[in-house]
Amino acid sequence: MRAVTFEGRFKVEVKGVPDAAVQQPGDVVIKVTSSAICGSDIHFYNGRIPIPHTGWVMGHEYVGEVVEVGDEVTKLKPGERVVGASYASCGECFYCLRSWPSQCMKQEHFGSGMLPGAQAEYLRVPYGQSTLVKVPDGLSDERAILVGDVLPTGYFAVERGEVRRGDVVVVVGSGPVGLCAQMCALMVEPKVVIAIDSVPERLELSRRIGAVPVDLNAEDPGGVIREHTEGRGADAVLEAVGDQEALRSCFQYVRPGGTISAVGVYSEAQFQFPMFLAYLRDLTFRIGACPAKNYLAKLLSMIERGKLDPTLILTHSLSLEEAPHGYDMFANHKESCVKVVLKP
Ligand SMILES: [Zn+2]
Ligand SMILES: [Zn+2]
Repeated sequence: MRAVTFEGRFKVEVKGVPDAAVQQPGDVVIKVTSSAICGSDIHFYNGRIPIPHTGWVMGHEYVGEVVEVGDEVTKLKPGERVVGASYASCGECFYCLRSWPSQCMKQEHFGSGMLPGAQAEYLRVPYGQSTLVKVPDGLSDERAILVGDVLPTGYFAVERGEVRRGDVVVVVGSGPVGLCAQMCALMVEPKVVIAIDSVPERLELSRRIGAVPVDLNAEDPGGVIREHTEGRGADAVLEAVGDQEALRSCFQYVRPGGTISAVGVYSEAQFQFPMFLAYLRDLTFRIGACPAKNYLAKLLSMIERGKLDPTLILTHSLSLEEAPHGYDMFANHKESCVKVVLKP
């Protein structure tokens, strides 16, 4: 089968790889109808998360059709359309039973150098019943694909930020996760969602979603936030970039007693936490990887009912063969690229 493989820094290729097949009784093999390129794929692509070996299949965001199931799979059958989380979780361990699939003791991450990824014609999904959900009839791939990773991550950021009706919410970052966080925050009916980024095209999407865009290169975000809060600072600050500078800025934007909720992917081991300031101001600080699987069905239902429309974020649709161009566009902010969908 054809697949997108990692071939070293700034190099992906589309080439033939071994076919996906059922290996364990809980496996489900799907024919991928759409996959997407994610910011975390870019962490591998640009070497920020270094993986020494090459030739492995990338990608962890997908929609597809079941083609083969293992002996233990009773709830899914060939022909059904499914979407799944970016990592497989067993559904049975200590953490899975406590709704923390992101801490599953047997978790396997698609497209991170070990388990082959979703930017391919076919995908083997371990623990298929626990990892996949059916896509409601009539919901296009484009409307469904973001529920596996970036949309639940945005939703999780809002939940952990304890966003309440009437709040002033700041979202640091207007990339795909930031835009999803802005969308999900707006569902809670806050007073305002302020979106901070430095890429004009991304800020334009924030404006279209209903947030107030602030261009880091043109305005002082702290000043804008103070204007909306009688000088206090934001009730909740959601961090969706994943670097030290962005994380540090959250401590400047949040009001005393407020909450910082960080969901950006950090690859640095250390961060100098402003302990004294956090103590004095009674801040709540949360960070973590989203247990995406918990939100799949809920978000699909919200999309189906028209409460959420994440398709605005999908700026490019390419064939699988055009993946190298997609990576280049996304990684280097070319052609106003925010999110690429690949069609095998
Ligand atoms: Zn992703
Ligand atoms: Zn588990």
